[in-house]
Amino acid sequence: MLSVESPLEWFESLHYSITILIIITQNTMSQIHQILEGWGNVLKSTIGLLDEETQKLSVDRLLHCNSCDMRTSNSCDTSKYGYHIKTGVRTYGCGCNIAAKTLSRSSQCPLGKW
Ligand code: SF4
Repeated sequence: MLSVESPLEWFESLHYSITILIIITQNTMSQIHQILEGWGNVLKSTIGLLDEETQKLSVDRLLHCNSCDMRTSNSCDTSKYGYHIKTGVRTYGCGCNIAAKTLSRSSQCPLGKW
């Protein structure tokens, strides 16, 4: 149980909690946007309505994914990890469907490859 000793501490605790909640909500909304964008573009690609630029971007990204150790079948495997190419931070796969992820323009590779 959270214990606070003064109104100022209570306010700081509340402010901290709200800040964390806002960050979580923003990240979740961003992920939902990326998922919808990716699958929407899969659908567009299937029926021949995807713009050329996004199609080319996806092909370039797939070149990285196709030779990546983090890939299992058509997923970026959450049970595998690698090291971010810029930060060196150990990072697990995101669990995304690769076909959809590479078609989401706002998505990024968790290892920074694209
Ligand atoms: S998104 Fe990045 S980490 Fe995941 S399979 Fe593709 S290249 Fe590898």
